[in-house]
Formats: sequence, structure tokens, C-alpha cells
Amino acid sequence: MKKKVFIANWKMNKSFTASLEFCTTHKQDLQQLTATAEIVIAPSFPALFPIAHLLKGTVIRISAQTCSIHEKGPYTGQVDALSLKQVGCDYAIIGHSEQRRDTHLTNDDVAKQVRRLVSSGLQPIICIGESKQEFNQHLSKTVLERQLNPIIITMQLSQQPIIIAYEPLWAIGTGIIPQHDYLEDIMRWIIQKLQRELQSPWRLIYGGSVNLDTITSLKTLPMIDGFLVGDASLDFQKFEKIVSWEN
Ligand code: PEP
Repeated sequence: MKKKVFIANWKMNKSFTASLEFCTTHKQDLQQLTATAEIVIAPSFPALFPIAHLLKGTVIRISAQTCSIHEKGPYTGQVDALSLKQVGCDYAIIGHSEQRRDTHLTNDDVAKQVRRLVSSGLQPIICIGESKQEFNQHLSKTVLERQLNPIIITMQLSQQPIIIAYEPLWAIGTGIIPQHDYLEDIMRWIIQKLQRELQSPWRLIYGGSVNLDTITSLKTLPMIDGFLVGDASLDFQKFEKIVSWEN
């Protein structure tokens, strides 16, 4: 059976020291988890290089949490995709709702990030999802279509793999996950769109309050290729239980 991918999105929750401590302490444990799952750790920028160094020789993968839409130039404070590759990243999370909110990223900007990452040899983990208001107004598919279309156009001439992470904004950090039927319908709708319109290889994962209470229900949806885990990835014991639920 194909391994599911589990991406630990630490956001800005662990300091540089805490990030290194986690990976030093749990290097062997994380390595063991890779027997049945693909494990990706996404610390904040400063910890990327030392963690990549620390985990060298393992199959644990490292992800950034964003990247610049630009290749290079006068963009103070930004980090380019090529540098992320050079420090040892294989992935970068882009279009996360917190980034969209805080840096006013548009759907076209996210497509530009996809282009930068793919041309630098990184696999984008592209977050899409509707707000609570959009959900209440039954606009979820309209919003997702708007988010997906520029990405599909950008990937037209590429054969590089991408990951789409469906993360309803109202599920992030709330302890609430979508109703089973709703999530199944949305995931099927995304899959059909990607099968119809995207030439490159893709995986579809879910994010938003993946924890020990919700993973049992989420695991019953076989079309989910993996999970983006925020809060519950900060504690190794919780993360380990989530990853190994089917073992
Ligand atoms: C996220 O924001 O990417 C996320 C998955 O958060 P949480 O699991 O804490 O809801």
C-alpha cells in the first residue's frame, strides 16, 4: 500500500533551540515512523539548515513554510526557492491561510510560488480552503476552483509532483473537522478536477485539527493521501500516535 505523508507544520511554535532539540531527541523515533509513512518536518527558516544536516542519511524530509514569489532581487526579508533547496529542503508549504492573511498573498502569487519551487526542484505543498463565511454561504467549491485554477495553468508544462492540502480555515486550530459526508464530497470533487485538468503527478492531503480525537474518523476516507498536522505535531508522542494509527 502507498505510504501516506504526514507533514508536521510547526508554524512559529518552536524556537530554533526547541526545533533542534526535538529532532536530536527523536531522530531514531522519526526514522522508525518512516517504515510505514512519509515524514516531513516543517520548522521555521533558521532551523532548516541544521535540521537538514542532523537528519542527513535518513529519509525524513524537510519543508519550508513559505517562499518568495521572486527568483532574486531587492526583496528585504524574503527567502528564495533555490536557497531553500540548497539548505536541504525537499518541500515548501505555500498558500497557507495564515500566510495568505498576513502577507496578502493572492491566488496568482501562490501560482508564482509554485513555479519558483518546481523550477528549483522542490515539491510544493499547496494549501487551499474556504473560510467559515464562505462555507456557510455554500461557496466552498467556487473558492477552491479559484484557488486551484492558476496552479493548474502554471503546472501545464511541468511533470513535477505537487501536493494539494485541503485545509478548511474553520477547521484550523479549532478542534473541529468537517462532517464526514461534506469532506468526502469536497475531496472527491477536488480529485475529479485534478484528474481532468492536471497533467503532473499530485497527491491530495487534509489539514485542520488532525489530532488523536479526529484521526480515527479521518482515516476512514481512503482517498486522503496524507495529513498536514499543526498543533498535534509539536508533541512527539501525539504525532507518533497519529502517524501510526493503522499500524
Ligand atoms: C495548519 O494550520 O496547517 C494545521 C494543520 O493546524 P492545526 O492542525 O493546528 O489545526
